[in-house]
Amino acid sequence: MRSEIIAVGSEMLTPDHIDTNSLFITEKLNERGCMVHIKTVVGDIEGDIISILESALKRSDLILLSGGLGPTEDDLTRSAVAKVLGRALGIDSGLLAALKERFASRGYKMPGINARQAELIEGAEVLENRFGTAPGMWIEDRGRFIVLLPGPPRELKPMIENLVMPKVERLSKGKQLAKRTLHITGMTESEVDSKAAPIYTACPSIQTTILASPGHITLRLQKQLDEGDGCEDLDSLVGRLIEVLGNAVFSTAGESLEKVVGRMLEERRLTLAVAESCTSGMIGSRITRVPGSSRYFLGGILCYSNEAKSALCAVPEALIVSAGAVSAEVAESLAVGVRAALKSSIGLSITGIAGPDGGSEEKPVGLVYVAISNGARSVHHRRIIPGDRETIRERATYFALSGLRRFMLDEP
Ligand code: ATP
Repeated sequence: MRSEIIAVGSEMLTPDHIDTNSLFITEKLNERGCMVHIKTVVGDIEGDIISILESALKRSDLILLSGGLGPTEDDLTRSAVAKVLGRALGIDSGLLAALKERFASRGYKMPGINARQAELIEGAEVLENRFGTAPGMWIEDRGRFIVLLPGPPRELKPMIENLVMPKVERLSKGKQLAKRTLHITGMTESEVDSKAAPIYTACPSIQTTILASPGHITLRLQKQLDEGDGCEDLDSLVGRLIEVLGNAVFSTAGESLEKVVGRMLEERRLTLAVAESCTSGMIGSRITRVPGSSRYFLGGILCYSNEAKSALCAVPEALIVSAGAVSAEVAESLAVGVRAALKSSIGLSITGIAGPDGGSEEKPVGLVYVAISNGARSVHHRRIIPGDRETIRERATYFALSGLRRFMLDEP
């Protein structure tokens, strides 16, 4: 069943409001095995709503519209849908009585303008709105289904859960949506895609999307299953993708990188201390987001200035002068120093140029060194991270956690 969502409301075409209803509707449809193929945001202009709905009816079996059911002149969803379907729109006496009763129960007389909310499209089934004044509607039209829903999320959500989903379940007849997710670090989006695309494009029945966030990449795989279908092809695709991406895949269970790193430290009975220059606390903050992190995380030193690097992590001043504060040498010295200062098994450090100023041709903005030391072995990684200051700091945090994971994977 092809499903489509149309969010009606001019406010969502401004920079101030986003359409969150469609995310909720998509989640609920997916749970019932229905994929959403298209979603649109359209302003409160009847002609635009009509043209979007006309196209939707040509390509989708289930069309859900949210918003535009209020009492004012700019609430046009009812009239637009009635026009497209060629059905009458008229006041329903039962709905009008219920609306008046709703106002009366709160001690108000219903304003005349609200009578519009008692308008019903010919042949529509009313979806009761227990949390607002605008009822929803369920309409069957030549084998397709059109659903009108109120805009406010607190009204839409219960209507979806209690009244719409039971109907969708009957329509989707035991269908399910099977999903798998691969979380990847240490590779760029294009590196991931160049390795993964030849494999996933050979499985057109599985929808694969690649999503890049600062510092990590997510590959999402989903497949619509009919009753009795198994997930063998989905699992086999996951297996082949892991084969080519190797240990860049840090989770297939939706865990964060800090959680995976924390589990590795705990399994190996290791403790960690961090020395942070350019990220100034972001690595420690991420690590301690995980409940129970006190079992392996001892603490961190924010060594932003050169003086702090020397005073708190025993980096020789001469080394900072000769190699520069942003260098492999200073990163390694910081990792060794913080490990000694906090008596941890592993010291992790980061130093870099977050910008926008401070870069040079030799050491550009975005240059970051991460070092890891366990006393016996020290390693460092260098990367030039593109983006603005905050993006660089966020990606650098992932880069450090990713380096730490790699360090532990490489240990015998
Ligand atoms: P009402 O009876 O309250 O007027 P309505 O069905 O006419 O309901 P709208 O007037 O379109 O709904 O929207 C009311 C409010 O609901 C908006 O100001 C906005 O805050 C919220 N809203 C509408 N559509 C969405 C959406 N797609 N996602 C999130 N919030 C929404």
